[in-house]
Amino acid sequence: MMAGVCDNSRRHPTIMATTVKPFLIGSIVRDTSGNAGVITSINPADGSIAGQVVRATPEDVDTAVRVAWDAFRNKPWRKLRPDQRASILFEIGRRILAERESLARLQMLDSGKPYKECMNMVTSAASYFRYYASVCETWQNEVTSPRGEYFSMALAEPYGVVACITPWNSPIMNEAQKAAPALAAGNAVIIKPSEETPQLALELVRICTEAGLPEGLLIALPGYGEDVGAALVKHPGVRMVSFTGGTETGRAIGAIAGQRLIPVGLELGGKSPHIVFEDADLDRAVAGVMSGIFGSAGQSCVAGSRLFVQKSVYKKVLDDLAARTREIRVRLPDDPEVQMGPLVSAAHRDKVAACVDLARSEGGSILVGGNMPSEQPFDKGMFYMPTIVDGLSNASRSAQEEIFGPVLVAIPFEDEADVVAQANDTVFGLAAGMWTGDYARAWRVAREIEAGSVWINTYKQSHIATPFGGFKDSGIGREKGLHGLRLYSQVKSVFFGMHEKSMSL
Ligand code: NAD
Repeated sequence: MMAGVCDNSRRHPTIMATTVKPFLIGSIVRDTSGNAGVITSINPADGSIAGQVVRATPEDVDTAVRVAWDAFRNKPWRKLRPDQRASILFEIGRRILAERESLARLQMLDSGKPYKECMNMVTSAASYFRYYASVCETWQNEVTSPRGEYFSMALAEPYGVVACITPWNSPIMNEAQKAAPALAAGNAVIIKPSEETPQLALELVRICTEAGLPEGLLIALPGYGEDVGAALVKHPGVRMVSFTGGTETGRAIGAIAGQRLIPVGLELGGKSPHIVFEDADLDRAVAGVMSGIFGSAGQSCVAGSRLFVQKSVYKKVLDDLAARTREIRVRLPDDPEVQMGPLVSAAHRDKVAACVDLARSEGGSILVGGNMPSEQPFDKGMFYMPTIVDGLSNASRSAQEEIFGPVLVAIPFEDEADVVAQANDTVFGLAAGMWTGDYARAWRVAREIEAGSVWINTYKQSHIATPFGGFKDSGIGREKGLHGLRLYSQVKSVFFGMHEKSMSL
């Protein structure tokens, strides 16, 4: 078998959807009776139907907000002792893990991501519930020392009903990343999953209910962004919005939230610089660069999509990178050997192809890839080959605009000052990576780079306890760690009077 091309020796089994999955708003079942529409999820590996769900409407938003407020006010959740709340969150994590194989398979069918990546995401989703169960149990409210006449406590209070709007690239993980801390903080949560990958959120609601979460505290509305997402953000009963997705959508949501004076958490796009200095271990650097851009077929907000290589080693690094990129095993997502699977949809694949055409028209030369595979069975799927573009400057549109696909733009640089200036010359500020043998330099550059996460001699590492979020147009606020719990809490200061005498004017 030829390496570096699609291996068509395995055929993906076609999954036929048999039923349209209903969704729940508390105890209300929204099924296909009446005029309910349907969202059909397409399996990006072969274009078959991955599943169908009932499509939520803006009227469902109204019902969901009412049901969620009722659950928040009247069900035992926010008033449970932290250890009681934690035990349910632990149980949710345990149940996600127990079902990880079927959840990972469903995510693979919905999103096209390789099965092993989906397994990692499902495991991460379980970890979010475990982590925030522990945090919820150990979280201490601040108490000020007695001041003679009073002492005070700063309490972390839930907002009430919060809306969590998620993208398609890591469905169950993104949903758990928001729902676990929001629930731990005592809120009722309405998730609006991406219309591309609507099935996992419904499974998450089922698992949470089976684990003992009171009905109505977690609702998933599988609808479209422009109607259901927008209705949620505008709804007067929604007190906080947590959004992950594209920068322009985030800007629109932020504008509405600004008018409504409600807090938002925005996790947005990126065009992350990945820097290779001449003193780096070049072999490891090339492997890191490849995993940074071609992992998840580049459909990662932190994808290292702008490669900066020091001029003295530029040719050597690019030659090696091109040779190794040609060897990437582009396969069907359930192939145990897969390194890169399809993109999420035909529309997204066509957008990536148009971006590569733009790179050509800007004068870029395509070192590797730049095409969709034509051989069977990949011709039926949403595949695009890993692509490296050379010969463009950092000012080009190809180097400035997020592509969200397996397309790397390589740019040479002179020295540290030059690469810091180029790396920061972008509207984004989500992440950055560098490879160098000089830790003093790594520290200097890390401090200068305008990004929410910086990786030194590694890339794309993340941990639930480590805050995550963007500088500049890549977002507002931080998720994960204690920051994640604070995002879904508002502070109330309570004063206890201990006056010996009556208060005087
Ligand atoms: P998107 O912005 O198109 O959609 C994200 C979600 O917002 C979807 O659920 C969509 O239905 C909804 N939506 C769309 N329009 C809306 C509106 N007007 N009001 C309310 N909701 C609306 O993004 P996408 O294509 O699903 O995801 C890809 C983008 O997400 C990329 O830009 C990527 O960088 C970003 N992303 C960021 C992070 C991060 O943590 N920073 C993580 C993953 C993805």
